[in-house]
Amino acid sequence: MNILIRLDLEGVTGVVNYAQVEPGSPEYAYGQRMAVNDVNAAIAGCFAGGATRVVVYDMHWLGRNIPLDEFNPAGELICGKPVLSQEFLEQFDALILVGFHGKAGSGTLLAHSYESDTLDIRINGRSVGEIGVEAAIAGELSVPLILVTGDSAGCAEARELMPDVRTVVVKTSLSTQGALCLPTQKTRELIETGAAEAVRNVHQIEPFSMGPMELLEVDLDAPIVINREKLNCTTQARLNGQTLRINTGTIYEAWRTYQDLRMVTDDNSIEP
Ligand SMILES: [Zn+2]
Repeated sequence: MNILIRLDLEGVTGVVNYAQVEPGSPEYAYGQRMAVNDVNAAIAGCFAGGATRVVVYDMHWLGRNIPLDEFNPAGELICGKPVLSQEFLEQFDALILVGFHGKAGSGTLLAHSYESDTLDIRINGRSVGEIGVEAAIAGELSVPLILVTGDSAGCAEARELMPDVRTVVVKTSLSTQGALCLPTQKTRELIETGAAEAVRNVHQIEPFSMGPMELLEVDLDAPIVINREKLNCTTQARLNGQTLRINTGTIYEAWRTYQDLRMVTDDNSIEP
């Protein structure tokens, strides 16, 4: 059984401030240690539950947060945030999210939705954060989300979307930059046990669905520089005020289009 773990850093054990997860910051090494703690426990739990292969995709910042010499040697790590093809994603039997958090605007611990300028993301009119987007993309490819670890608000958001999903709370959100935190030894145990149970019961969870893809909307708090070349060739992507609306094929394709639009070079960028 192949398991994909997507790793973010804001929702890992003990992290309560962006300075702890920002490359270059003096406190960044602490965030890295906490992320290693959580992801290594998740990998161990997956194998204990019957996984035969566990691949981790580091999706925080530039995807270069985990020192491989501290990474659980039973797993494999995708570094540097390459674009993953649908075929690649389809090989997995389940998805686990480690280190996740509440969506932008929720007012909870380190709440955001990918970029700091993003106010809201809606799929078919329904507001989602990173947890919802990742669950929807995987679900569309028939890969169920079986476990979310993170702060209490992120886990509550996951259960609201997917009542059956298992969650492991490593810290209780008290404010945007404050939480009641469990120590690493405790969260290691909780995550390992949670991952083992999730993998063992993988067939109890249906892939998450938001229905056939109709519309992806992203509200931004200011005009952004977008990739003009991509906007021209993607006729269905329209920039209307500060909301990007994309209604291309599938959720996977719409999300790819959105990311392409944000990927700019000096040659083809404009201020809309
Ligand atoms: Zn995040």
